[in-house]
Amino acid sequence: MKAIVVHEFGGPEVLKLEEVPDPKPGPGQVVVRVEAAGVNPVETYIRAGNYGPRQFPYTPGSDSGGIVDSVGSGVTSFKAGDRVYTSASISGTYAQLALCTEAQVHPLPANVSTRQGAAVGVPYATAYRAAFIRTTPRGGETVLVHGASGGVGIAAVQLMRAAGLTVIGTAGSEKGLKLVREQGAHHALDHTKPDYLQELLRLTGGKGVDLILEMAAHTNLGKDLTVLAKNGRVVVIGSRGPIEINPRDGMTRDAAILPMTLMNATEPELKGIHAALRAGLELETLRPVMGREFPLADAPKAHEAILQPGSYGKIVLIP
Ligand code: NAP
Repeated sequence: MKAIVVHEFGGPEVLKLEEVPDPKPGPGQVVVRVEAAGVNPVETYIRAGNYGPRQFPYTPGSDSGGIVDSVGSGVTSFKAGDRVYTSASISGTYAQLALCTEAQVHPLPANVSTRQGAAVGVPYATAYRAAFIRTTPRGGETVLVHGASGGVGIAAVQLMRAAGLTVIGTAGSEKGLKLVREQGAHHALDHTKPDYLQELLRLTGGKGVDLILEMAAHTNLGKDLTVLAKNGRVVVIGSRGPIEINPRDGMTRDAAILPMTLMNATEPELKGIHAALRAGLELETLRPVMGREFPLADAPKAHEAILQPGSYGKIVLIP
């Protein structure tokens, strides 16, 4: 099969398309024929060597939508031909076939395409864990999804709207702002404009927001503390560097800063998260939005695109 293989840390050019042996499922394992692989920012950090040690060679990717190709002994939940999405993979999903454990594979409802399936794993599980496990959103509260036009942000807008919150989402482009509104946000603000947080305070009658789901803490955490309501919480989902904050802004509000990573999710947590996501997908409160598509060979271009401004839905690779 064809797969992207990385032999050394470096820029996007280290993502090489190669011919490698087809994976075979061992006991408790599933091989998925990948129809689309989701590209997540973390895969660029790993490739660049900014996310801890890594054994070479490796194939990147955890998310995909596709069809079960074969199953190993003891697998009871899936059979060849089932439509599925993956949320992690033993062998990597930037490939025509991905070897996974049974727990890393999830059934894809009939109303969701396999391309959309590639947008579910990391983005929706992250948004769900940030919003429902790191904190408790209450219907009637106001949430700021700070960075709502990308993979995690769209998921967060849809989840928070369905949970009965007033949703304010941000984007940095006109098409992104339109997308954020279409996904259910009551208000969309442009985070490239100098006065957008004043506008947020105006929208909340000066009270501020109860909850912030933050995609860019390295630029926003200090400002976030100034637009929180009393007892407000900031869940830090994304951060690409250090930032100085004024603790007093949090103290006066009895605020909580709650950093999180999906990698800390336990097996029982993940089981619960994916059960909830399945229900949302079936009922169409969750509707993954597709962005740009690249052929597998163009993985380097996809890694450049995922870090550029002007996000619009999920970037996928088509093997
Ligand atoms: P993505 O699809 O590339 O989207 C990035 C989002 O951040 C876009 O909405 C973008 O808006 C927005 N953004 C850019 N500059 C911003 C600013 N100054 N203020 C607010 N938002 C800004 O990435 P993603 O998959 O949604 O991931 C978002 C972040 O979460 C990334 O940093 C990623 O590494 C992180 N993440 C963390 C976890 C975890 O476990 N903690 C899991 C998944 C992702 P525009 O492009 O419209 O400007």
